[in-house]
Amino acid sequence: MTESRDKIRLLVVDDDRGMAATLSDVLGASGYGVETAYSGSEAVERVKKAQPDGILMDIRMPGMNGVETFRATKKLSPESFVIFMTAFSESSLVDDARREGAVEVVPKPIDWESLLLLIEQSAGSGPGVSMEIS
Ligand SMILES: [Mg+2]
Repeated sequence: MTESRDKIRLLVVDDDRGMAATLSDVLGASGYGVETAYSGSEAVERVKKAQPDGILMDIRMPGMNGVETFRATKKLSPESFVIFMTAFSESSLVDDARREGAVEVVPKPIDWESLLLLIEQSAGSGPGVSMEIS
């Protein structure tokens, strides 16, 4: 599936612009098509225009948090897989994200190898599939 990565479109959502840029650089260098949004509301607008294959979403953002954004994007694009990212693994928002069907919640700082593997698996296997990463 490596040769078809450029056809896989990912939306990165993070209020930390440096983090969004780093994610975009790494994913772009790995061959994915990447768009970025810096807020939940911006993410919703982008998903309205074009449904991405997958969304990488920070959980803690001012305004709409990641879980609230997920509720909106899930209605607009139910097929998109969603991977949450957070530095706050104990947050009740993490429990909400899991309960509402996030494919996975990955801790920050990002383990890039695991994240890339997770994206590859998610892109291949569709939303809502449980998987193990080690
Ligand atoms: Mg944040």
